[in-house]
Amino acid sequence: MKPTLLLSLTMMLYPLQAIAQTAAEFAQIWDKEHVSNKLPSNVRHKDLLKDLEDLKKLELKVDEVGKSAQGREIFQIQWGKGPMRVFLWSQMHGDEPTATSALMDMFAVLQNNRDKEWVKLIENKLTIRAVPMLNPDGAEVYQRRSSQGIDINRDARNLVTPEARLLKSLRDSWEPEIGFNLHNQQALTTAGKTSKQAAISFLVVFGDEAKTLTTGLERNRRIVVAMYQALSNFIPGHIGRYGDDWTPTAFGDNFSSWGTPVILIETGAIYGKDEMFLVRMNFIAFLTAMKLLADGSYSRFDPNEYELIPNNTSGRIVNFVFRNATVIDRVKPQNLLIADIGLVTERRRAEMAQPTTIRQIGDLSAINGLEEYDTRDFFVTGRIQSLKQGNFGELLFYKKDRAINWASTDIEAEFPPDAVFSLGKWVKGEGVVKKLN
Ligand SMILES: [Zn+2]
Repeated sequence: MKPTLLLSLTMMLYPLQAIAQTAAEFAQIWDKEHVSNKLPSNVRHKDLLKDLEDLKKLELKVDEVGKSAQGREIFQIQWGKGPMRVFLWSQMHGDEPTATSALMDMFAVLQNNRDKEWVKLIENKLTIRAVPMLNPDGAEVYQRRSSQGIDINRDARNLVTPEARLLKSLRDSWEPEIGFNLHNQQALTTAGKTSKQAAISFLVVFGDEAKTLTTGLERNRRIVVAMYQALSNFIPGHIGRYGDDWTPTAFGDNFSSWGTPVILIETGAIYGKDEMFLVRMNFIAFLTAMKLLADGSYSRFDPNEYELIPNNTSGRIVNFVFRNATVIDRVKPQNLLIADIGLVTERRRAEMAQPTTIRQIGDLSAINGLEEYDTRDFFVTGRIQSLKQGNFGELLFYKKDRAINWASTDIEAEFPPDAVFSLGKWVKGEGVVKKLN
């Protein structure tokens, strides 16, 4: 077939091709043009300031709109000149940073591609405002709460924090027609009753306890279905639906009740992929939503398919499982215990060490590990603390044919272990203990 004929056939079949950007195209754009250059968990307020300066150099509108309790500036970015008002905010929980980086990428790409038809459409139909890093004090020390110890997402009614007052005033003074509330969830959340991590979860947030499905919320369901389909190209089976319990003090619920129907996007984790991969997923979801809002094509998506997205589920996976370990209590070494050991990794900045704690010891046959090891040929004892739930997951491994004096006060020096698992990795004897998956 001649290329020109192929092209005209394509144009006939897909007349909206010029504006109907696919998820794959958004991914390509991100690969070529993203501006985020640090792992989001390592981004501090001073890094945000620099990123915003870079956006200003692109002639984006960036305004300081308030200050945190400790006096850090909080900003709003604005782009587009259309009638539909779209509002996004990120990192109201300081240790939930992925979307902050994705917002930088979205605005830079939109601004840098204003000559493209699909971007012109968004520019002419939407005005987008976003507050990245609403909780800069929490972000500075990588904690959920504000510097006043308040969960800003439980302060929508009381408004005791300056950050919550700011967020409410930005909504009330502008009355956006849709809101995106951007968070991170536990890395071990699964999509339905599976062992697949929910890398992204969505929720269309009800505005009342009776769960009234308004027109705006139905539109949001269609948009979530579209984002779900877009991301399923990259992370099939790894997308969940966040629980819809009514939380009367949370911002999402109140935004929806105040007249700005909210979509919650929660970024989780996915084994083997780093944080930038998740920034890319956020970026694709955001641009999919912006495009749909601009061209109205969300109406083509079935809102009922929203109900088919698997529910977020917890308690089904841990980071590491060591199967059939012979666990040694060094105080009472005669009491041998054959058990599985399940470890979970604590949430930390990527640049910090990643400590693990023992989630459970016992029969973990109903729980899967992202990494699993066959420990049946080893005695396992604690490196720092005894092996009990809640203690550090620091493990020493000894082959069972060795004679060890478990009462030794310096066991690692006197009886060098065959393998050592520390801070979530093998620091000695990697490969000695057989990996199962
Ligand atoms: Zn959160």
